[in-house]
Amino acid sequence: MDAEAIKRSLERSGLRCTPQRYAVMAFLMEHHRHPTAAEIFGAVNRRDPRSSRATTYNNLRDLVRAGLVREVAVEGRAARFDAKGMRHHHFICDRCGNVEDLEWYDIAGPAAGSLGKRTLRECELIFRGLCTKCAPRHAAVKGS
Ligand SMILES: [Zn+2]
Ligand SMILES: [Zn+2]
Repeated sequence: MDAEAIKRSLERSGLRCTPQRYAVMAFLMEHHRHPTAAEIFGAVNRRDPRSSRATTYNNLRDLVRAGLVREVAVEGRAARFDAKGMRHHHFICDRCGNVEDLEWYDIAGPAAGSLGKRTLRECELIFRGLCTKCAPRHAAVKGS
């Protein structure tokens, strides 16, 4: 996605395209490894030392609220973020906490009536287990 497209998607979501907000969005579009807020701040601050931690975190929160960025909660660890481009599910490794994208497929929503008066925004899956790096090590420990 080019600079103009990022600017348009911010404005379509009712967000002003400030240099700091743009920097957060651009970083997430380029890096698909689900960085934490601290990692995003580090990267944005390296490029533009004027951006403060508070501004970066506020921008991140605005982008999540506007639906442009997804927050992936990882139990017991810092939340990770990714730019919503292609829809996808997530796989989270129990051992190293790595968050990986899995190809999207449609899933059944909750049973009719179970939501009551709640409104549903989206429905996605989180798979948990051992990633390709950790699974072989786990097997080796078990086998010895
Ligand atoms: Zn792992
Ligand atoms: Zn993702």
